[in-house]
Order: sequence, then C-alpha cells, then structure tokens
Amino acid sequence: MSLRTTQLFIFDLDGVIYLGDEPIEGAKRILAALEAQGKEIFFLTNNSTRTRVQFKEKLNRMGIPAHVNQIITSAYSTARYLQQKHVGASLYIIGEEGLLNECKNLGFRVYSGESGNTDIDYVVVGLDRSFNFEKLAKALTAIERGAKFIATNDDPTLPTEHGNLPGAGTMVSAVRTGTGVPPEIIIGKPNTFMVDLILKLKMTEPAKAVIIGDRYTTDIKAGLNARVKTVLVKTGVGLQELTQIPQLGPHPDLILESVADIFDYI
Ligand SMILES: [Mg+2]
Repeated sequence: MSLRTTQLFIFDLDGVIYLGDEPIEGAKRILAALEAQGKEIFFLTNNSTRTRVQFKEKLNRMGIPAHVNQIITSAYSTARYLQQKHVGASLYIIGEEGLLNECKNLGFRVYSGESGNTDIDYVVVGLDRSFNFEKLAKALTAIERGAKFIATNDDPTLPTEHGNLPGAGTMVSAVRTGTGVPPEIIIGKPNTFMVDLILKLKMTEPAKAVIIGDRYTTDIKAGLNARVKTVLVKTGVGLQELTQIPQLGPHPDLILESVADIFDYI
C-alpha cells in the first residue's frame, strides 16, 4: 500500500505523536515532511478535558508547529454537533475546562457543578476528574425533565504514565444507569463524527484520507467506519491493541512500528 496519493493525514495524539509530554521519536520529522509535500494534517483526540488552544500549545512546546484549526477534539466536535442541533441551547455539563469552554465559545448557555437551571436542553457528559454525586443528581434530574443526553466519548480508561485512571465512559455509564437512557450520540472515536467533520471541512473524499492511531477499538474502527485508510502504530498502547484485531474482521491497512515509518509510504 502507498500513501503517495493520500492528501489528508489525520493523526491521533496520545501514543502516536507524543507520550505524556514527550514527542514520539520521528514524529516531528514526518510531520515536517508531509507539510513540505503540501499534505493536509489534522490531529484528533477523544480527550475532552482541554481546549484546542491548549493542545496547540502542548504541540508547540514540543516543537511541532500546529495551528488551532488543525486540532479536532471530542469537546470541540460535541459543541459543533450541538450547534447543528440547537443553536444557543442550555447545557448541563459534566466535564472539564475543554468541554466547558468549547461550548461557551459556540454561544451555548452552560451550567455545571452546583449551577443549574430547570430548563436544560442537553446533558453533556465527558471526562470530569471532579465528578461527584451532586453532578450525577443534577444530570439525572435534567434528563428526567426531558433534557437529551449526549457523550463526548466512551473510553473506559484514561491511560497515564502511572497506570489507568477512570475514563469518560465510566461517567457516561453512571448517567445511563441512573436514567435508563443511553446517550443519543457518543461523539468520539469509534464514531465517525470527528473524521467526517474533517473530511467535510477539507472537502476531501474518504479514499484520499488516512487515520493513524494506536488503538484498534477507537482510531482504527473510526477510520474503517468512515472508509478512510487506516494505519495502526505500535507506540502508545498499539502493541497491546494488536490483540484487539479480529482474526476474520477488518484489519488496518498498515501496521507500523511508529509514525516515523510513514516515510516509506509517502
Ligand atoms: Mg492514542
């Protein structure tokens, strides 16, 4: 397989471009090479805790010259989804700065924590490291009163250098269990919403795009669902994720040691 005619390169961040605060070896060089060839580059993450500006700053600190408009997070995508559904809606958010700010930036009335309103249109759930009983109760009450329920992502865990922490999916499950209602949509990968958003932004057909990720169950599945090319890298959790690839099911188009090996295909 070749990526020579591929125009749009969509990179997962954690485990692909960096690990914690360290860039993956060769990531900077491959991004510079793609840039020099005039390819479109996007960065995609299910992590809803930070804003796009914060991710841009993190990449820039590592010497990677990313722009805000190249970064698509599940928080930003959730705000875009809500904008399509209900401009100016009132939201009760279980989530952190990234989700709160992306929703505020698009003009929604945002409630969180203790603050609330009897007239909530959507309960939006993402990773919230200050999640508590009070927030869960607020979310349940709003949904019982008719608010719709959407989730930024469904990741069961948040991998860190010290091991796994609970992911957004655990909070989504709490709301789901309490209300008996599943989310209307889960925006993050493996849903295609974020990949489709980029394809639309760049007016690119799926055959001209590739997603590069370290998780079969999110990155690669999102790519397969969106019908773009898929590359699984063995950095991050990629090596363990090889066991997730079904014997008879769809496989990634390429399995590489790391992003650095993309050189051989462009
Ligand atoms: Mg990853």
